[in-house]
Amino acid sequence: MDSYNTIKNYKADDFLLSVWDKSEIYIKALKNWAKQGIYRNPLDNSLLINYPPITAASPVSSAMYSDWRDSLLAMPDDMAVALYIHIPYCSRRCTYCNYYSLIKPEAPESYIDLLIGEINNYQNILAGKKIKVNSIYIGGGTPSLLTEKQLEEIIDIIYKVFKVKDNIEVSMEFHPELIKNKQADNYLKHVRNLGINRVSIGIQSLDDLILTEINRGHTADDALSLLELILAQGFDKVNIDLIYGGLPFESLNSVYNTLKALMRLAPTSISKHFCEIKAGSVDFERYKKVRYYIPIGTRIFAFRP
Ligand code: SF4
Repeated sequence: MDSYNTIKNYKADDFLLSVWDKSEIYIKALKNWAKQGIYRNPLDNSLLINYPPITAASPVSSAMYSDWRDSLLAMPDDMAVALYIHIPYCSRRCTYCNYYSLIKPEAPESYIDLLIGEINNYQNILAGKKIKVNSIYIGGGTPSLLTEKQLEEIIDIIYKVFKVKDNIEVSMEFHPELIKNKQADNYLKHVRNLGINRVSIGIQSLDDLILTEINRGHTADDALSLLELILAQGFDKVNIDLIYGGLPFESLNSVYNTLKALMRLAPTSISKHFCEIKAGSVDFERYKKVRYYIPIGTRIFAFRP
């Protein structure tokens, strides 16, 4: 939806004006929340996580669709895009998460068919003109729920429809639960052979008490075993995602021990995400009922103490 909106509001001034108009609606919603005791800083990053912000988006009409198609056709030949493929399924709901995802043991075939159909649609619209792609990111949700065959189908259609530049970064997100799949080693080899050269693993913490409490469905040992398997595959880049600053039962020691164990294995990068408790998450509901649930001293979020 955002991309339609970006293209529709292609003139910078018009676009800025529409963001400004829509932000009034958001501020009104914030004021309503505040009346109920829920406070949120208007500069909270959830307003900025989508660009343009979600508040600037409007429903897609058929007129907008043809604007979008015309904009694609008008793209200069040397222009390249970053391609993001979303897999909105997870095997379980982590308590801090407020992203949209459906709980399924695997990604349904019907979704893969629709995804392939949508990508094929680009080919129909562009009638032979191929969009250049300079990076591919497969995120979620939990992309590592995809079967080898599903992943291969997605990569194949991308290369068929788009002109993928040589030596680009192709990323995929992994959940440590993959290690429980006896074929994890083969799965990773397959991923590597498909040209995926950067992986990002959502480890979050290496404290088993925390992992259980946030419903991650794996242990610290599982996460470390998967990381070792991944490192052994020789991916160009291996990133670890961690969450800190508000997880239940978290302490300075648990953060320090997590970092120490990970640094020993030397991934390419560690991305630290500050824990925020947001509407839509299980933690948000828990905290409304039991406000001392979260460790004292952590910078928290939306509620007046
Ligand atoms: S944090 Fe990731 S794995 Fe957990 S529910 Fe959210 S999207 Fe799914």
